[in-house]
Amino acid sequence: MALIVQKFGGTSVGSVERIEQVADKVAGFRDQGHDIVVVVSAMSGETNRLIELAHQIQDQPIPREMDVLVSTGEQVTTALLAMALHKRGKRAKSYNGSQVRILTDDAHTKARIREIDDARLHADLRAGNVVVVAGFQGVDEEGNITTLGRGGSDTTAVALAAALKADECQIYTDVDGVYTTDPRVVDGARRLEKITFEEMLEMASMGSKVLQIRAVEFAGKYNVPLRVLHSFQEGPGTLITFEEEDAMETPTIAGIAFNRDEAKLTILGVPDMPGVAFKILGPIGQANIEVDVIVQNVAEDNTTDFTFTVSRSELARGEEILKRTAADLGAREVRSDSRIAKISVVGVGMRSHAGVASQMFEALADVGINIQMITTSEIKISVIIEEKFLELAVRALHSSFGLDAEPIEDSAA
Ligand code: ASP
Ligand code: MG
Repeated sequence: MALIVQKFGGTSVGSVERIEQVADKVAGFRDQGHDIVVVVSAMSGETNRLIELAHQIQDQPIPREMDVLVSTGEQVTTALLAMALHKRGKRAKSYNGSQVRILTDDAHTKARIREIDDARLHADLRAGNVVVVAGFQGVDEEGNITTLGRGGSDTTAVALAAALKADECQIYTDVDGVYTTDPRVVDGARRLEKITFEEMLEMASMGSKVLQIRAVEFAGKYNVPLRVLHSFQEGPGTLITFEEEDAMETPTIAGIAFNRDEAKLTILGVPDMPGVAFKILGPIGQANIEVDVIVQNVAEDNTTDFTFTVSRSELARGEEILKRTAADLGAREVRSDSRIAKISVVGVGMRSHAGVASQMFEALADVGINIQMITTSEIKISVIIEEKFLELAVRALHSSFGLDAEPIEDSAA
């Protein structure tokens, strides 16, 4: 007997048939004696549809009204799921965010949860109900409806699990877990049984869009055991845990992440003197352009070449700013390159295993890939390479670090 929070995303509740399937699943857990709180998203496409309606009236509707509008999608699915549970002979009650009282700040369309009143939910659970809560929304001190930002139902689920001290928060989605890398790039990519929060954040922030990053951060902060599972296939999914296994057991590398949304700017022949990095990156920061990887090289003539990466959509703006800086500093030239990609090996096991960087560089050298830039953190090593080699690099690293799944033996042979 456990208290479980289960979240079903938009595709899992995308039609009445799907909602009935979710009800079967939830009812099954009830039959095993578990207490269940379900968090649902709006039917897939619904939130976009509502936003589109608003934009037919106004380019920039007032955020307060946007929240009143987009929060309706989740209210529909809570009621339908409660009905489907009733049909199966289960007690169930649906609530929107303000009825539970998921109290948030007043930052409409990107509100943060402050406090959750768990009294009503506990009472309903004690009375034998499945409680169905609308994801993605709350209410501010003044009683205004707020929403938590796109994909916010994950955060609702984790926050409810933390408030209720649930035994597990299960996120049901259209993949069966977190993978060692993108299975579309590497055939042998494997589902991970377990991954730590830290690793998950590194993997998620680089494009494994399984979970909203904020939800992972929240789960890490409140130590909520989180599991990603497939909505309609049986299987254990991937557990995202706080605990690291002991160093001997920990695989060195959990996965290979990559990001194509990178572009490179270089300013050449800058006088090498104090304050130069600040003069170059100051205006970039002021323009709200995020800088990722940075490399500086000093040449023999006491000038320096300074290279940094930004996201591709910011390249043109960044280049314009950098050209002005180059004129001010008397630099020789500005170059830009958007055909690059970042690839990272991620793993908490790096802390106790030496030689990960050299293994990574060797694996890339073996397939003839040139490394343009390198950056490291405690649990991650990233390199910038030419984009056309990205898939080759991911495959080489995946196999070099022993992540490839065993090929399935042909039993007939
Ligand atoms: N329905 C909202 C969205 O599409 C929230 C969610 O699905 O998590 O962003
Ligand atoms: Mg979602």
